[in-house]
Amino acid sequence: MNNKLLVLGTMAYDAIESPFGKTGKILGGCATYIGLAASQFKIDCGLVSVIGDDFETAHTDLLTQKGLDLSGVATIAGEKTFFWSGKYHNDLNIRTTLDTQLNVLTKFDPKVPEQFKDASIVLLGNLDPNIQGAVLDQMKAPKLVVMDTMNFWIESYREKLDEVVGRVDVLSINDEEARQLTDTHSLVEAAKQLQALGPRYVIIKKGEHGALLFHENKIFCAPGLPLEEVFDPTGAGDSFIGGFAGYLSQRGKITFDEMKTAVIMGSAMASFTVQKFGTECLETLTREQLHQRILAFKSLSEFELT
Ligand code: AMP
Repeated sequence: MNNKLLVLGTMAYDAIESPFGKTGKILGGCATYIGLAASQFKIDCGLVSVIGDDFETAHTDLLTQKGLDLSGVATIAGEKTFFWSGKYHNDLNIRTTLDTQLNVLTKFDPKVPEQFKDASIVLLGNLDPNIQGAVLDQMKAPKLVVMDTMNFWIESYREKLDEVVGRVDVLSINDEEARQLTDTHSLVEAAKQLQALGPRYVIIKKGEHGALLFHENKIFCAPGLPLEEVFDPTGAGDSFIGGFAGYLSQRGKITFDEMKTAVIMGSAMASFTVQKFGTECLETLTREQLHQRILAFKSLSEFELT
């Protein structure tokens, strides 16, 4: 297994409203969050994405400086970058999408760079399942394929989505989407149904309440770290999966035990993301801060049975 991680996803501009404030257009997109989280690990990470000519050089520079390979990022002249706007309610687990402007995404023909075709781990970030499938078709023989999605694609592309879900090893979705996909209330039952579609591992994210990892008949539960201040949950799911895949890629081993630690890595990464607006917190995150937070997660749920 090599330590190459190939990430597909959006590079975007977002406008966010939360009870704590409102942003103008800021850097966002699932590939951006995933890449920033994965850059904490000693791996070779390449992004496959698309941007318009309005995408600022400062933002591509930021990602390059983090060691991310952008040779799979296409620029479409005369078109605008993908734009998304969302509003969080007082319960920050509830989000309303205000606007989605696909822009360059409608013309996106993803090309996996030659040097990443043999990547051991592929992360299909939240995107049109047709594009996710097209990227998977270009990969040689990945050891692990991880997939994320969201309601936008579930609602409009259900048939294609099910087809791609059938080709992946790990499906990562939030609780609401798991219920939407399976028409079931129980998350345990939903995970069973999702595993039956193909993925050997199913991760159900529960926002501030943590995440569940399902594999065969085993369940691992990662707590949500109680934080004093949460400003903006945008990108939490993406940085979760970026931390998860980045860790596994660095470890070079895929077992249920490694996956448990990976889920904690992802949870720690998400806990940083939500503490500031947009990508701000991930941009300055250090390995030492990450290490300290992993210890906080460990002590949060550790106990002795006497
Ligand atoms: P998350 O909060 O982890 O679900 O991800 C938020 C990020 O996903 C934002 O930065 C958006 O730019 C991006 N995003 C929102 N809607 C979509 C969509 N339909 N397809 C792909 N990316 C999206």
